Amino acid sequence: MGRIVLENVTKSFGDAQVIPPLNLTIEDGEFAVFVGPSGCGKSTLLRLIAGLEETTSGQILIDSKDATEVPPSKRGLAMVFQSYALYPHMTVRKNIAFPLRMAKMSQSEIDKKVEGAAKILNLADYLEQKPGQLSGGQRQRVAIGRAIVREPAAFLFDEPLSNLDAALRVGMRLEISELHNRLRTTMIYVTHDQVEAMTMADKIVVLRAGNIEQVGSPLDLYHTPRNIFVAGFIGSPK
Ligand code: ADP
Ligand code: MG
Repeated sequence: MGRIVLENVTKSFGDAQVIPPLNLTIEDGEFAVFVGPSGCGKSTLLRLIAGLEETTSGQILIDSKDATEVPPSKRGLAMVFQSYALYPHMTVRKNIAFPLRMAKMSQSEIDKKVEGAAKILNLADYLEQKPGQLSGGQRQRVAIGRAIVREPAAFLFDEPLSNLDAALRVGMRLEISELHNRLRTTMIYVTHDQVEAMTMADKIVVLRAGNIEQVGSPLDLYHTPRNIFVAGFIGSPK
């Protein structure tokens, strides 16, 4: 579970075509990173996969099923937002439990799942605190916890670390990579940070103006960049 295929997907806002016909396969269990400069369409692509934007044409298949008519909540994917999307008046427990309460799960099952996620994320001692009492890294873990409890087929991250300071970012990067090693669930991670892409990805998708410039492993891109844009962006010698 968690194979995502984009077939000739396009997206226009009014007259502006932001995503020209695009084909891409993300394999089950893969850690894929979408990287590229600001405005190149990374968030739009992620939102199309999540179902938060409608495709203008083309098809998105999630585990071989056409997702076109499937609303975001039924796609089996979990979007991880930056930590400021937490509810400040709710405890950590309630924040993590939120999607399960929406799904009308029983309280005992909710408690079990929330406590399981808290353990994985080292938040077990903070469940009764409010987000305001936590560090930036802990808050980001709560946002990830809210995704974990849904047991999604894939996690979608949109620049989740961009509002953390540099030292914290390095730590959270490692934590997210460890989470992937542990869960082996498909993850799609959007960033404009080349270092994040190079250190986290199984597969890097380099985007420029909605076009895929190159898809490959960090080593592929570093050693055999297809053009000057990729070489310049990844930082390999030309
Ligand atoms: P990135 O995440 O790579 O910075 P985005 O996907 O946010 O890029 O944006 C890609 C392009 O699409 C930009 O030119 C942006 O202005 C445009 N865009 C994104 N969302 C909308 C929208 N809702 N309406 C109009 N234009 C949009
Ligand atoms: Mg963006």
